[in-house]
Amino acid sequence: MISEKTQLDRSLGFACPRCKMRLVFSSTDMMMKCIHPACGYQYPIHQSIPILINDASSAFCINDFLQNSLTYFSQGHHRQKTNCRIPMNQNALHNFAHVRDLLLHDIPTPLILILGGSIRGIGSEVLLDHPKVRCVETDISFGPHTQIICDAHDIPFANETFDAVVAQAVLEHVADPYRCADEIHRVLKPSGLVYSEIPFMQQVHGGAYDFTRFTLQGHRRLFQKFEPIEYGPLGGPGTALAWAYLHFFDAWTQQPTWRKIVRGFARFTSFWLKYTDAILLNRPGASDAASATFFMGRKSEQTLSDRELVRSYHSASNR
Ligand SMILES: [Zn+2]
Repeated sequence: MISEKTQLDRSLGFACPRCKMRLVFSSTDMMMKCIHPACGYQYPIHQSIPILINDASSAFCINDFLQNSLTYFSQGHHRQKTNCRIPMNQNALHNFAHVRDLLLHDIPTPLILILGGSIRGIGSEVLLDHPKVRCVETDISFGPHTQIICDAHDIPFANETFDAVVAQAVLEHVADPYRCADEIHRVLKPSGLVYSEIPFMQQVHGGAYDFTRFTLQGHRRLFQKFEPIEYGPLGGPGTALAWAYLHFFDAWTQQPTWRKIVRGFARFTSFWLKYTDAILLNRPGASDAASATFFMGRKSEQTLSDRELVRSYHSASNR
């Protein structure tokens, strides 16, 4: 079910995921159709949610959504549970408030694209629930906030549509994060904002849909076509150690009852580790042992060169 605040605005600049030409709602409203004569692809609308997937190249199939097959749905709930177990995301609330203030300083009613938005991420409510903020919440699974089924490799919107794009714990789950970063750049208006969070020292979550990790340098490189506003660690070394400790115990057994016992013991003996991040997170070098990092930046026409990137490295381990 779609939340009332996030009813889909049909006047948005939809674009065909295949050819990037304009998409229009058909007269029956059961389809969205590409206006390009050579393409003319039709995308179904299922349970009021357009399925705007490039079936020719995506890891996901339109038919799976029409048949309500599992895509990332169950994994999405896993993500929510694991986030509740260990607060890996110590700076998220501050960061989302920063994005909100930057947007509302310049734009009366900013339009934001949320990738991986079927469920709300930690801290995002201060941005997404603001009465002046308009959100388009997309995901590759149905969920309480999904308005559009969308694969970030082919974002179904026209160039320069959005004032900001949010990808919180999403880009580790895409096969080609560089292509997705290019797509984010494309759909942002000039000087539009991106906010991204990606794990670094965290074990696999999401099974078949967990592809990669980024160091802070790698995260900056991913958004080399953006001018940074702020970037750094989220969960610190304490959180990273807590994840490793829990997964060390997980590795001993697959038997459900034993696993429950072992996990209970691991959580009971490691709950305190996350609190050490209150001291460690802002120390020099925390980025090199972080459980996750964030990047907040503005769309730019300049591209950061790899030489400039290497020179910008400023962690304690390089001194
Ligand atoms: Zn098309």
